[in-house]
Amino acid sequence: MDAIDTGADIERVLVTEAQLTEKTAELARLIERDYEGKSLLLVGVLRGAVMVMADLARELRMHIEMDWMAVSSYGTSTKSSGVVRILKDLDSDLHGRHVLIVEDVIDSGLTLSWLRENLQTRGAASVEICTMLRKPAAAKVDVEAKYIGFDIPNDFVVGYGLDYAEKYRNLRDVAVLARHIYE
Ligand code: IMP
Ligand code: MG
Repeated sequence: MDAIDTGADIERVLVTEAQLTEKTAELARLIERDYEGKSLLLVGVLRGAVMVMADLARELRMHIEMDWMAVSSYGTSTKSSGVVRILKDLDSDLHGRHVLIVEDVIDSGLTLSWLRENLQTRGAASVEICTMLRKPAAAKVDVEAKYIGFDIPNDFVVGYGLDYAEKYRNLRDVAVLARHIYE
């Protein structure tokens, strides 16, 4: 769906579909260069990272594998709880693997700092992070992401996989949700 299809739910579009596509290609070129000759496992964090993963994986001009994890996240609230729980674990053995975590957004950073440590303890050769969005003003812990699409303001955003109460994930752009929806 496009922003216009949401009625008055969207305050403004932050990152357009075209910008996302262009950035995905840029990130893919960096990843191809960095992982040349290595076997790469992309780990997507359900459910928000589905769109990033689908676009990034297809843009990569190399063999990759994909696996998925689900961790506890926002529910219907708009603030991070800091509590991380594994709802669905990986199927892959990480021993000796080069792992690239694929995420939609780094907000407080709590989820990813926990996840990276968790995957590192499983014997991966490397664990890096690729996130399409980052909110620098919301950071509670410092998470070093090697590949970052866009730094965005500390607003609650939806679209391109990001939801509010499970809606808006299928919006093509990344957009700021109008306050009247959640206040
Ligand atoms: P964290 O605060 O960095 O731990 O982010 C946890 C998760 O909350 C992210 O992976 C997203 O799924 C979700 N999240 C963070 N910010 C937003 C937002 O602005 N809109 C929708 N979901 C968000
Ligand atoms: Mg997420």
